[in-house]
Amino acid sequence: MVTAHTTHNKGNCLNRQGSVLNIGVLALQGAFIEHSKILKQLGATVVEVRKAEQLTRLDGLIIPGGESTSMGLIAERWGLIEPLRAWVQAGKPIWGICAGMILLAERAEGQKAGGQPLLGGLDITVNRNYFGRQVDSFEMLLDTPQIPALSDAAGPYSAIFIRAPVITAIGQGVERLASLSAADGGKLIVAVRQGSILATAFHPELTADTRWHQLFLDMVCKEPLIEPHMAVTPFGNLLHCRS
Ligand code: GLN
Repeated sequence: MVTAHTTHNKGNCLNRQGSVLNIGVLALQGAFIEHSKILKQLGATVVEVRKAEQLTRLDGLIIPGGESTSMGLIAERWGLIEPLRAWVQAGKPIWGICAGMILLAERAEGQKAGGQPLLGGLDITVNRNYFGRQVDSFEMLLDTPQIPALSDAAGPYSAIFIRAPVITAIGQGVERLASLSAADGGKLIVAVRQGSILATAFHPELTADTRWHQLFLDMVCKEPLIEPHMAVTPFGNLLHCRS
């Protein structure tokens, strides 16, 4: 069977209007340019989102890594908190990376004095700077996630952690996608999915391995696809999303 995953390598998944996927990347602060490059490489159209009105007509949204307190404060100042919350509440696909994951969390430990604006919606508790400061950044192989888009022939995934958070508790509806083995033999959860919300504590936009971006595009395209069929367009053979 042709999967959406392999299709992104060959062409583009289409949205329900029959157009190439239109993905927004919140561009207030942090690593938004790197995401744009990978998404374009995978065939999506990218919108750098700085205003609430840019959220209309998007198929999916990425909140990049950066600094969650700054990003939350800028989002507050630019009137984006409520529109972003509305996006999450509506069940539209969203992926939070590192600071973005913190913003999506329902609960955060280790916040700055006075707290910080969170969007919430993802039923997890995060510890903001679990691994310490910027100098404590590292690259590590993840325990193989049990999802087809990630555990294919490309081998184990090497993840980059920069002043990264860890997920210390998850609610019932939250699926663990990847974890790290801690020094004491325990597991540290570093990637989860809850419905249409994806969250990773590490930075896939800083590697050449596009599997996590493909996974998100698959989610936007409503994986698993039901009765996929090929459509011929000016871009070549493209796969339709489930309607
Ligand atoms: N720990 C940082 C924060 O609190 C996030 C770091 C990152 O996004 N690389 O925002």
